[in-house]
Amino acid sequence: MAGSDLTLRPFLWRAANLFPEKEVVSRTHRGRERYTYGAFDDRVNALANALDALGVGPGARVGTLGWNHHRHFEAYYAVPLMGAQLHTVNVQLSDDHTEYIVNDAADDLLLVDPGGPVETLERVWDDLESPRAVVVMDEETPALDVDVSVHAYEDLLADHAGAYGWPDLDESQPAAMCYTSGTTGRPKGVEYTHKMMYAHAMMVMTPAALDVAEGDVVMPVVPMFHVNSWEFPFAATMIGAKQVYPGPSPDAETLVSLIRDEGVTLTAGVPTVWINVLDYLDEHDESVPSLERIVVGGSAAPEAVMRRYEDEYGVVIDHAWGMTETMSIGSVSRPKSTMAGLDSDEIYAKRAKQGLLSPGLEMKVVDAEAGERVPWDGESAGELYVRGATVTRAYYDRPEANAEEFEDGWLKTGDIVTVDGDGYIDVVDRAKDVIKSGGEWISSIELENALMGHDAVAEAAVVAVDHAKWRERPVAYAVRAAGEDVTGAKLREFLADDFPTWWLPDNVVFVESVPKTATGKFDKKRLREETDDPDLVWTPGK
Ligand code: AMP
Repeated sequence: MAGSDLTLRPFLWRAANLFPEKEVVSRTHRGRERYTYGAFDDRVNALANALDALGVGPGARVGTLGWNHHRHFEAYYAVPLMGAQLHTVNVQLSDDHTEYIVNDAADDLLLVDPGGPVETLERVWDDLESPRAVVVMDEETPALDVDVSVHAYEDLLADHAGAYGWPDLDESQPAAMCYTSGTTGRPKGVEYTHKMMYAHAMMVMTPAALDVAEGDVVMPVVPMFHVNSWEFPFAATMIGAKQVYPGPSPDAETLVSLIRDEGVTLTAGVPTVWINVLDYLDEHDESVPSLERIVVGGSAAPEAVMRRYEDEYGVVIDHAWGMTETMSIGSVSRPKSTMAGLDSDEIYAKRAKQGLLSPGLEMKVVDAEAGERVPWDGESAGELYVRGATVTRAYYDRPEANAEEFEDGWLKTGDIVTVDGDGYIDVVDRAKDVIKSGGEWISSIELENALMGHDAVAEAAVVAVDHAKWRERPVAYAVRAAGEDVTGAKLREFLADDFPTWWLPDNVVFVESVPKTATGKFDKKRLREETDDPDLVWTPGK
């Protein structure tokens, strides 16, 4: 065995033995539930016994389709600690992506939330090849039309109480897996070994990264299907902090009431969530006195939002950058101690950038065409390359993507950045042709191909436009086929057959021709430059 010290086992041990009385609060579709780390430990052991009885052994993959709640949190520990691999599947994907991802990972068993995720499972079931059993993360199971055994999570735990003998594990063994759709082709799987998880949770705890302390009350709002909820469920457990899981599709009112009732001090999620919460606080004249910090990342945090949180509610926004490939958090923007002389505007200008690379990582910025490093002068832009213990070295089973997206041990992030003389990263563009809306990826190429599959469309190009709340929204440029008079509304209806509503372009702009580059490809750069017009963004009811 290469080494067995850097595994997740001591995370559970520490919380169970040193903080058995600290609380875990969980909102499910049934309401708010709470227990202690002591009870959590008992249930993690029972879950491992139950999964063992269902045939989950070392090396098996357990897929989850679930929101942020205590049962999902229990699976975060039971599955990797048994020597199996936890594969968190995004519950907001199109059916096509869900089916592809579960089949590609060849998940042996699925843990699924009641409601939307169960409905998704039923729709895609006939095309799934690998799952041998389904566990519904609830007290009972709905009538599910699938041809394998279906179990209620709580029945399983009741039947399998007792200690599980956690095995010694090789730290280079995969513990978890997450797919990224931030790519122009099929989603790509990223595997996280125990050693990577250990290293990332340790990094995240430090004051240079997220600064998680035992006295914090931590509420991870970033979904548990997004890169392990940015590792909060590991860092917060290891440190012994109280945790609050906000449950299925939490709205602003739910988040504010959880923060107030449970005394949340530290929370995290994408900008859209915190813009909604800010609007809610303003409209309802509410406050969140316990809240000290929000880690905002996944898309750029607007400086105006950072200022309003701090000025009006005394809450500091820590702007963070990261990727599925870097196990989430890879940089955080805080001023250095040597910047005490800067005025408030200068400090905000720094904090609105993506910030300083986290401890344990290295970076370089490369001009792809010249193949040279660009200077750190705050102006020269190039692609960000990163490497380190918490950066994946390869995608799962994707040799072609591996050849393209890794170079001499560096991950090419696809983010175009400048770096200033103090080392602060600023993401200024994206090399890949994808759109990130509300923290979730939309593939412009899939939308274009679908649009061009419509008889009345000769050409279509889809680009992102800036949006105050969602940060980016898709807009389509289409050329009608000769003699056709199809409308934008009809094309949206057409796309709705195959894509989730939130993928549908906010507007379809009809043009004579789509601009092309010298090599005949759609000139997305030019289109993006032309899409500053706010009227291109569709507003419901307008
Ligand atoms: P994902 O793999 O889904 O987590 O997406 C990672 C990508 O999201 C990065 O490569 C960036 O393009 C984008 N991203 C993440 N954090 C930020 C941020 N703070 N500002 C701008 N873009 C970000």
